[in-house]
Amino acid sequence: MITAIICAAGKGERAGFNRNKVLEELNGLSVLSYSLSAFSPLADEMIVVCRKEDKVEIQKLLSPYPNAKTVTGGATRTESVYNGLKEAKGEIVLVHDAARPFVTEKIINDCIESVKKYGSGVCALPATDTTVLAENGKITSVPARKSVYTVQTPQGFLTKKLLAAYEQAFIDGNEFTDDSGIYAHYIENPYLFTGERTNKKLTYPEDFVPAERVGFGVDTHAFYGEGEGRPFINFITLGGVKIPSDKILKAHSDGDVLVHALMDALLSAAGLRDIGYYFPDTDPKYKGAFSMDMLEEVMRLVRAEGLAPKNVSIAILAETPRLSPHIERIKQSLSEALNLPENAIGVAAGTNERLGYVGEKKGITVYATALLQKI
Ligand code: MG
Repeated sequence: MITAIICAAGKGERAGFNRNKVLEELNGLSVLSYSLSAFSPLADEMIVVCRKEDKVEIQKLLSPYPNAKTVTGGATRTESVYNGLKEAKGEIVLVHDAARPFVTEKIINDCIESVKKYGSGVCALPATDTTVLAENGKITSVPARKSVYTVQTPQGFLTKKLLAAYEQAFIDGNEFTDDSGIYAHYIENPYLFTGERTNKKLTYPEDFVPAERVGFGVDTHAFYGEGEGRPFINFITLGGVKIPSDKILKAHSDGDVLVHALMDALLSAAGLRDIGYYFPDTDPKYKGAFSMDMLEEVMRLVRAEGLAPKNVSIAILAETPRLSPHIERIKQSLSEALNLPENAIGVAAGTNERLGYVGEKKGITVYATALLQKI
């Protein structure tokens, strides 16, 4: 029988929330729920160690799991896990931090296998950065990188042995940051198994930004009417591509209504302000500006937020000119500007059935959505 102890007794102070961070939502699901659904098929029993204040809320999250219960934590992590261990019925126990919601079935299975084979299994990754030991701001030693690992959870042990270690630590009044430390101190050096980079711990507020974010943008430009002193050009610009047109769009810049809608979609997905804020048309700098240059600047702003486009979808409403012969070139142009494959860029063009300002050939409207992902 296998018991999973899920530690959820933190206060979330470093994450900057007023409450326990594992109750915060991530893509519409509480952080704790991710671990519950990962462990549920593999553990016979799940014990969530939590603070008294969070118990009611956590018990609600446990309702889909009849094999799960809460245990009140203590003042320290050591005390909290000890409280959970005393209730564990399984002969194997897996201790996991609820703040690591991306734990996978493979990690949990590898952990169980390691315990069955070696009596212990600590999830760890080889260090990719050089780590050093330091005191008073000065390096005291530099361990060889190949012998340095960063330790994650879950960490699995034979329940009896881990409980014995905790009992002794409790008597001694010793505090440890994790179970591998306590086990190594009182029992023996535990075995490692390889974890996954994605199994990361949510610590800071930015860790809670959803991995994918969608944005929407729309823009309309009017055509010059009869006798409005239009410039003597015979094209409009859409997606950086010059398209032959009898009617010309009015604009402060090059009038690339498609790129304007797209930029607003990208900025909106990143939670930034709109293009009017970054490129005010009162600024002479942007008179006649090439919108593709502004798009480059928007991409810099989006990247600075740690985000990059995953795909974009654009719908053009225009009664004139005929756009279908130019769609492929627009896709190529955007593919380069957004650093996306062409199959991640959708461009649809349609008329408005002669209805409204689009139908009367008074202007063009473009709608755009952009999906951004964390980089
Ligand atoms: Mg515009």
